[in-house]
Amino acid sequence: MTQRFKGEFTQQEPIAKEGIERALAVLRTGRLHRYNLAPREISESALLEQEFAAYTGARYCLAVTSGGYAMTTVLRALGLRPGETVLTNAFTLSPVPGAIAAAGGRPVLVETTEDLLIDLDDLERRMAAQPSRILLLSHMRGHIVDMDAMTAWCRERSVILVEDCAHTMGATWNGVKSGRHGHAACYSTQTYKHMNSGEGGLIVSDDADLMARATVLSGSYMLYGRHLAGPPDEVFARVRLETPNCSGRMDDLRAAILRPQLATLEENCRRWNERYEAVARELAQAAGLRLPHRSAAEGFVASSIQFNLPAFDAAQIEEFLARARERGVELKWFGAPEPAGYTSRHSSWAYLGEQDLPDTDRVLTTLIDMRLPLTFSLDDCRTVGAIIRECVHDQAVAGSQRQ
Ligand SMILES: *Cc1c(COP(=O)(O)O)cnc(C)c1O
Repeated sequence: MTQRFKGEFTQQEPIAKEGIERALAVLRTGRLHRYNLAPREISESALLEQEFAAYTGARYCLAVTSGGYAMTTVLRALGLRPGETVLTNAFTLSPVPGAIAAAGGRPVLVETTEDLLIDLDDLERRMAAQPSRILLLSHMRGHIVDMDAMTAWCRERSVILVEDCAHTMGATWNGVKSGRHGHAACYSTQTYKHMNSGEGGLIVSDDADLMARATVLSGSYMLYGRHLAGPPDEVFARVRLETPNCSGRMDDLRAAILRPQLATLEENCRRWNERYEAVARELAQAAGLRLPHRSAAEGFVASSIQFNLPAFDAAQIEEFLARARERGVELKWFGAPEPAGYTSRHSSWAYLGEQDLPDTDRVLTTLIDMRLPLTFSLDDCRTVGAIIRECVHDQAVAGSQRQ
């Protein structure tokens, strides 16, 4: 008997009661703007920044409108010049090259390894060809490269490392929180990430000058004194008149929804990984399916799972996806000729011009991607894993019969 899965791959958990109550409390005051405060009142946004700084161990934190805005703002605050090159992963989501473009820069895409990490050898080659001041490292789908090697490489070449932690909020490398290896880190609180406020972003850094500029850029006006996790006033005094306002503030409604979620983040990370393990255990038994190898130093948070089907050609992958879809399992394919939904690759970013990325192309051609929402039970995950395993098997049999 063939099993059919009935779950919804895009269904997140509801906002918990405490978040709803706090959000209602903000709505009742009418003071949704983070600087619209009663005397001695502290904004939800400022409290969120203080709590997220404490959580990550960063000196400063700024909450903004999105993860993409966070990255653009850090690049602007670092004084990115028009047309300046920024190194970044070829395997990432479109808002990453988009953030570089928004800041006036030019992305230089770096190759991807079979384990979905930035290729450090290719990074060296691209750096030689296009000497760059900044590396925007995207921990795409939560895969974390050897951060000891990465930070040493950056240090030796005086490259400023900015981390895109949209998929690594709550993750670690060698026990150090993701986002604390680089000069600055950007997080997203968009619905599909690890905390959900619909839209939203967070920046952390220990660099006072950078964070003062980022705060003024985000639209603090002269009200930066109302932040709790910002640099001292004298730093703002130096930058406030020479930094443009490119509005992108967090509002107190979203901050109110996020603060209680921070308290349950670690527990949710554990729950995501439980689900990942349940699916991965099934997939590990599928012949012809490759799961990326993960370093023991990587404390990942698996809100999604990736695997390659290296033996299948494009037609076989399409048939395999149709089999899985037929059985209720919604998979994304990074090798699809046309971008669909959220899934795109460098050839879909035509504004960058043609790219020469043979290794990335080879990896993405057979790369499959699946969300793991917390609304799935562990049983759901075992079912989904078994269906994928069976569909890979059925496809391999169908392929061999045709020959
Ligand atoms: C979602 C995402 C972002 C940006 O987040 P938004 O809040 O949607 O702008 C950045 N990088 C990666 C890898 C992402 O998946």
